[in-house]
Amino acid sequence: MPIDPICKMPVDEKTGFKSVYKNKEHFFCSENCKNKFDELDKSVIRVRRSLSDRERISFGKLKREIIDPGICTMCGACVASCEVLDIVGGKPALKGRCTSCGVCYNQCPRTITTESSLIGKVRDVFTAKTVLSDLKGQDGGVVTSMLLYALDEGLIDSAVVTVKSEEEPWKPVPIVAQTREDILRSAGSIYVHSMTMETLMSAIKRGSRSIGFVGPSCNIDAVYKMQTSPYGLLHMFMRANILKMGLFCMDTFNYEGLKAFLESKSIPLSTVRAMKIRKGKFSVIADSEHTFPLNDIDRYRNGSCTVCTDLTAERSDLSFGGVGSKDGYTTVLARTGLGLELFKDAEDRGYIKIEPLERQAFEKVLHLAKAKKTQMYMIKKRFETGKGL
Ligand SMILES: Cc1cc2nc3c(=O)[nH]c(=O)nc-3n(C[C@H](O)[C@H](O)[C@H](O)COP(=O)(O)OP(=O)(O)OC[C@H]3O[C@@H](n4cnc5c(N)ncnc54)[C@H](O)[C@@H]3O)c2cc1C
Ligand code: SF4
Ligand code: SF4
Ligand code: SF4
Repeated sequence: MPIDPICKMPVDEKTGFKSVYKNKEHFFCSENCKNKFDELDKSVIRVRRSLSDRERISFGKLKREIIDPGICTMCGACVASCEVLDIVGGKPALKGRCTSCGVCYNQCPRTITTESSLIGKVRDVFTAKTVLSDLKGQDGGVVTSMLLYALDEGLIDSAVVTVKSEEEPWKPVPIVAQTREDILRSAGSIYVHSMTMETLMSAIKRGSRSIGFVGPSCNIDAVYKMQTSPYGLLHMFMRANILKMGLFCMDTFNYEGLKAFLESKSIPLSTVRAMKIRKGKFSVIADSEHTFPLNDIDRYRNGSCTVCTDLTAERSDLSFGGVGSKDGYTTVLARTGLGLELFKDAEDRGYIKIEPLERQAFEKVLHLAKAKKTQMYMIKKRFETGKGL
């Protein structure tokens, strides 16, 4: 005997009320239950229409991003919400015409459909650059300018930053910077892991209580956990105010590997003035500029980076990156009230120039963040192609 899908009571097919949905007959104990079911069906159609007005997303996108890479959980949410979908050969598949309403994509638990699930909580987004003439940063020099502002204003008593080793060129060395000179020499990006946490601890042990801390998301997460975990040292007894300044980060590389790669191209590290990673290219500025496809150094990429999903350092007060901004500018995400207030005050005090980040430019940040969130899905592919982690 069929079960009424609304009240879950058994129904006699001969005397019950009937509706057809997705070519399947459903039976109801009363007209009331049938009406409720029909109304539900109509609302699915309404939702589908209103979504299709906003953005046209076809089943193809769900197939490309979720089904083909093998990360579909077979929960059936997409099939349940559309009459032209069914399970074929163990996978959701089209069996009719897709109207690109986007319902299946937005329903799937594996798709990422909101900005906050890509880049975390953000109060406002900007593009900015330094106005200090003695400063040459990686992008707009905003991180260094913010640290100088905070030190000059007495808002921090030190900063944990990373500089290049004097003995081994381009080897990252984390330091506790307490002077303008030390902060200035930390400008620029080094694409190698920097072990910043020991340095943070030493700053606190030396008596610093307000510290500017700079690092990519894995470093920011370490600070966050030390502050919030019941076992965290910063939570238990080493209390200090820490301004968390996160860097966007797609990857870092093994120092020895990077060195060997550049030497094989007759570029000794001692001659390198800057390195840049943009749009799938690795550029090295030495006597002249050399550009390589990023794939050429993929084998030196740190294993931890291949499984990292946070591009924008979501637990920071302020996050900084190059993507989205024009040359010579830094993209800035203000996340906390404190971060936003200090950022704006740095402009008022004459350290930086701020502009709003246009929507189109912001889309580039979201796009890269999505690539990073979904790179985990590519792991299967990496093993299939023999690259491993
Ligand atoms: C490893 C790494 C990967 C990055 N990947 C991307 C990316 O894929 N896309 C993107 O848009 N942006 C990326 N960035 C951020 C970008 O390179 C700039 O750091 C950011 O735009 C700020 O520029 P700025 O001129 O304002 O900073 P600057 O004023 O030049 O200040 C740079 C700051 O970075 C710190 N720093 C440098 N190297 C390290 C390190 N290894 N570990 C911790 N801190 C460090 C320095 O201490 C300094 O405080 C990356 C940065 C790093 C360090
Ligand atoms: S719910 Fe159906 S019609 Fe809408 S996009 Fe998905 S497959 Fe196409
Ligand atoms: S909703 Fe997503 S996870 Fe669920 S079956 Fe459809 S594609 Fe797979
Ligand atoms: S990719 Fe992730 S793990 Fe690797 S250095 Fe960047 S933030 Fe850290």
